[in-house]
Amino acid sequence: MSLYPRPSFLAPPEAWMTAKASLALTSTRSSLGMAVDGGYGDTGDWEGRWNHVRKFLERSGPFTHPDFEPSTESLQFLLETCKVLVIGAGGLGCELLKNLALMGFRQINVIDMDTIDVSNLNRQFLFRPKDVGRPKAEVAAEFVNNRIPGCNVVPHFKKIQDFSESFYRQFHIVISGLDSIIARRWINGMLISLLNFEDGTLDPSSIIPLIDGGTEGFKGNARVILPGLTACIECTLELYPPQINFPMCTIASMPRLPEHCIEYVRVLQWPKEIPFGEGVALDGDDPEHIQWVFQKSLERAAQFNITGITYRLTQGVVKRIIPAVASTNAVVAAVCATEVFKIASSAYIPLNNYLVFNDVDGLYTYTFEAERKENCPACSQVPQDLQFSPSAKLQELLDYLTQSASLQMKSPAITATLDGKNKTLYLQTVASIEERTRPNLSKTLKELGLTNGQELAVADITTPQTVIFKLHFTT
Ligand SMILES: [Zn+2]
Repeated sequence: MSLYPRPSFLAPPEAWMTAKASLALTSTRSSLGMAVDGGYGDTGDWEGRWNHVRKFLERSGPFTHPDFEPSTESLQFLLETCKVLVIGAGGLGCELLKNLALMGFRQINVIDMDTIDVSNLNRQFLFRPKDVGRPKAEVAAEFVNNRIPGCNVVPHFKKIQDFSESFYRQFHIVISGLDSIIARRWINGMLISLLNFEDGTLDPSSIIPLIDGGTEGFKGNARVILPGLTACIECTLELYPPQINFPMCTIASMPRLPEHCIEYVRVLQWPKEIPFGEGVALDGDDPEHIQWVFQKSLERAAQFNITGITYRLTQGVVKRIIPAVASTNAVVAAVCATEVFKIASSAYIPLNNYLVFNDVDGLYTYTFEAERKENCPACSQVPQDLQFSPSAKLQELLDYLTQSASLQMKSPAITATLDGKNKTLYLQTVASIEERTRPNLSKTLKELGLTNGQELAVADITTPQTVIFKLHFTT
């Protein structure tokens, strides 16, 4: 059996029923001579409109899925039934919407919580100067709907966290073009929470594939996630390292790059010389501040014969700006859209399952199979173990949750059931509760009344679901 059964993980059966029913309807109509060109007569289509797509779907080829049978149904499904959700209407999102709409996807929803900034216009090509300040999702949807007849993009100027399970359940495929790892982890957790298990066996019709694209400067990646079947975002969380900082010894004693000199001024000289008075923090948007750092960095660079410091680079380093590159977005979005097409049509075997792209130096692509993690906190259904000594303080446990490479939580809230009552041990996000529970951090686990085998429920912004940990005391 192939790794990717066809098409069981895709459309819930009722969706296929709808597709088939509408197909029957249109074929009746075309036999009455009311429709042209394969019977899509009332969908705004003109003769030959989908000829290019039909070449992939209505004939066999060396790369088609082993179970693929050419037919007109796939195109029908794609045009009329398949419902996709695009998360993010920025650099990747604009490309994705354009690609999907031109491929024939018509039931598209897009979520983005941002408004358009003038600095987006060089690459987010669905936006114009007159749109600055308006929600990205709305403008992108208007543009695509106006430009591509029959396409119905529904915009949502919201956060992904504003929607519930029932909203996400309506889609066949979710595509994310996000710049936030937290949001990626959250949608990953949401799609996993939609999985149905019957007697421990995954019901394939509950799987909503997630196609995830990401870019950073000249580097990018695209991946296909079949929640519950293949590696999820949390399975490979170690691939997202914490933000890299330059080693302090390099900055202080042997700078080699212009960036090292700017970091030296930012980290060491600014707090020492307090150029704008006591307590004034370096503001990356204040031209006078950047000008000061720029001049000092030039002096530092001159001592070490380093060149290449500019005002622009100075601001980039201070504000940790990674420039967005339009061509990287185009490549990654094209890969993602191709995967959506492959999965939606079931005509081709999807990417298995992770592609990296890099054109920093020449051009490089590589594909590998990211593996599922046996004890993945999101998709494994295995309780998470925490090994601590009874004399460990709650603070140590909290540090582990935030610092461990496989968890990387942001502001975990920890609760436990003690004497039959739910007790919040620590919660950071509400100031009054934080204040009340802060003393717990310096107490030991034993002092808090926790026992060996105790379950701890941990909530965090990185997941829509509470993660259950089991506490194991070490001796
Ligand atoms: Zn996982």
